[in-house]
Amino acid sequence: MGPFYSIAIDGPAAAGKSTVAKRVAAILNFTYIDTGAMYRAFTWAVLQRGLDPKDEKASCSIIPEVKIELFEDGRVLCNGEDVTRPIREPLVSGNVSYIASYKDIRLALVDMQRAMAASKSVVMDGRDIGTYVLPNADVKIYQIASVETRAQRRYDENVAKGIPTSMEDVIEDVKKRDYIDSHRAFAPLRPAEDSVELDTSPLGIEEVVDAILDIIHDKTGLEIPCH
Ligand code: C5P
Repeated sequence: MGPFYSIAIDGPAAAGKSTVAKRVAAILNFTYIDTGAMYRAFTWAVLQRGLDPKDEKASCSIIPEVKIELFEDGRVLCNGEDVTRPIREPLVSGNVSYIASYKDIRLALVDMQRAMAASKSVVMDGRDIGTYVLPNADVKIYQIASVETRAQRRYDENVAKGIPTSMEDVIEDVKKRDYIDSHRAFAPLRPAEDSVELDTSPLGIEEVVDAILDIIHDKTGLEIPCH
């Protein structure tokens, strides 16, 4: 265990990872890193240039031109443009898993992710954090929930953000992304051998947060601040 702690939270789409990861990071005073936002921002850049996200060569050709920045307040910039909202739109959601299946794009984004975790304590959420990005993470959580629960949560989130979607579209999107994410050749979605699986279907956010804080305390001895 180094001077900095790293907590990896992986799992399928819309399992509530980001909500929980943000809370856990705030309680521990760690930095939250949303790696999905990075793949989404890259997808946005591909679409903005009029390129086809299914075309690996064309998508990878812009790697040197794409600069992604994540801020503590949750804002995401791509080449200086605020893309926080557009990266949650269905067009990006529907294409991000193609982009995330390209090895060269993953290598570029993983470099950034590892650099961010090298100099501070982090809670990082994604698909391959425990298996590939931070294989030595102090704690690895694999967060799951039924497709119905996940679709409902994502649907409610979209409504709250004013992003128009139907329940059918959300279910389709979640299933499609899970399929592509778990079948890609490079760093697919799967639980790390040393991860703790947490089924959040029957749980509320605070219960999931407390369960994860307990696991962190057990594995690292870290005292959990009152919250
Ligand atoms: O976490 P979120 O659902 O926003 O991620 C969007 C997409 O980015 C995922 O469906 C997946 O294709 C990709 N992703 C990934 N590896 C990560 C994080 C996200 O492949 N570590």
